[in-house]
Amino acid sequence: MHIDILTIFPEMFEGPFKHSIIKRSQEKKLVSIRLVNIRDWATDKHKRMDDYQYGGGSGMVMMVEPISKCIEALKEENEYDEIIYMSPDGELLNQKMANRYSTAGRLMILCGHYKGIDERIRQMYITREISIGSYVLSGGELAAAVFVDSIVRLIPGVLNDETSALSDSFQDDLLSPPVYTRPANFKGHKVPDILLSGNDKLITEWRMDQAEKRTKIRRPDLMRDTEMEE
Ligand code: SAH
Repeated sequence: MHIDILTIFPEMFEGPFKHSIIKRSQEKKLVSIRLVNIRDWATDKHKRMDDYQYGGGSGMVMMVEPISKCIEALKEENEYDEIIYMSPDGELLNQKMANRYSTAGRLMILCGHYKGIDERIRQMYITREISIGSYVLSGGELAAAVFVDSIVRLIPGVLNDETSALSDSFQDDLLSPPVYTRPANFKGHKVPDILLSGNDKLITEWRMDQAEKRTKIRRPDLMRDTEMEE
């Protein structure tokens, strides 16, 4: 998978992309991530990226020209499955979407700032708009990092068996059951006996039961979603 991220703050990705699973997936050549600085396509000598809103009001808007130049230059080089804009008014990211995008070949992800980007970019180039939650961030970079993490860990070969994605929360519309590791007794707090029993069948049943109980209490909406789909 190839991911091109368009941003005016490429440095913001250094932390999330240079460690752990995203780092490993790039080393294994399962994914390549390119950070594209939109400022390189600025049209005036001050490399200006934003301007006042038409109609007045507080907050600057990212200008159409540099972003348009940048997107067109990239589209000339490559074909994209989707050109995604991270936006609080986009489709809410969930595990099903992450599963779907994890099989993409090439994605472009645009990060906004300030009041957002000139609407014409959205009309002319964007094929998908994704929100990571119903709150407003100061820029699209953290949102893009969250989205990229959620899809990259699902690319076959990225996760080792011990971190298998299939038993994570939201796969099968269930939250994950509780997990434990050594010691079996910590200050009197014991690991449930069944997990020490060695009986695989009972352990699987216990985990399923715990996952269902947890989902019913914490996220009953997930179960309702499944019932409605059926
Ligand atoms: N004025 C806009 C918010 C702009 S926030 C509004 O009210 O809808 C600045 C940038 O941060 C946006 O362009 C977007 O790229 C990013 N952003 C903010 N919140 C986000 C969210 N919940 N999900 C995805 N991207 C978000």
